[in-house]
This record gives sequence, structure tokens and C-alpha cells, in this order.
Amino acid sequence: MNEQQFLGLWKNIHAIFGMDGMGSNRLEAFNSCLDRVSHIAPEAGDFILERFRDFDRLPLNMGKAVQDAYDLWRSRQKRNRQPTENLFKRKGCERCIDGYIYASRTSGGGYEYVYPFGCGHCGQGNDSFPEMTREQLSRAGYVIRMPLESPEVCEIETSCREY
Ligand SMILES: [Zn+2]
Repeated sequence: MNEQQFLGLWKNIHAIFGMDGMGSNRLEAFNSCLDRVSHIAPEAGDFILERFRDFDRLPLNMGKAVQDAYDLWRSRQKRNRQPTENLFKRKGCERCIDGYIYASRTSGGGYEYVYPFGCGHCGQGNDSFPEMTREQLSRAGYVIRMPLESPEVCEIETSCREY
């Protein structure tokens, strides 16, 4: 948000409380906020303004109040965007995670090591990993150790976190 855009928001916020944001005592406060708001996305302006309508009076620390409102806007943006992003980003199939199957084998010393393998079912893992199916891994003495049991699990987790 540049100075001009913030000035518009500043005036609108003050108008909510019947104030003129351009008085000499307010200009100093305005200038002190400029650094703080420079990273704020201009499209968040309407949302930020709406937040101020809930306040009983003009906050003393305008920079913080604007920042708080912006943080809220961002967290809502993120939440609204996440499900779609996951759909597009996710590759692989229901037998792997993003093209990888993780499996462990116990070494001679008794330590269990987990290795990533390219998914032999969909073949979408990176070529530098050996490609194996779950069945091939089991036959080779590996135990399947997926970080999450299946992609469906993380889908459910994502939607749970939203509520
Ligand atoms: Zn797969």
C-alpha cells in the first residue's frame, strides 16, 4: 500500500469516528505508520476498513490496529485459497504421497531407516529415486512407512483445521 492508498484508508477510518485525519496532530501519527503499512496489499484496504467499523473508538496505536486487521485478512485469504492450491499442487496417486512411497528396513545394527522410493504405481516421483510399488517393497523386506497414511488423511486434516 503506497502513501496515497494509505491516505485514502486513513481518511476513511477517521471518518468512521467522525474525525478529520488530516489535523496536524494526526499527520504525525499518519507518518509514523507509513513504514509499517508499506508491505500491506492494497486490496486488503476494504477489509481493514470494515474491521475498524467494529471498534468503539479510534485505536491509539493505528499502525498496530491496521497490522492486526491485515494479519486477519491474510489468514482468511490463505484459508480460502488452501483447498484449491492443494488440489493443484498434489501429484501422485492414492498409493503414494506426491509420487513417493516411504518404506523402512532395519539395518544389521538394529536401526530402522526410512527411505523414499519413487511410486511404482503412478511413476510421478523424481527419477533419482528407485521406483517401486508397495508390493515390490514388501517383498523386498521393507515396511511401508508413510508420513501420513494417505493423501486423503491430510485432506481431512486440512478441512478440520478450518473450523
Ligand atoms: Zn503414486
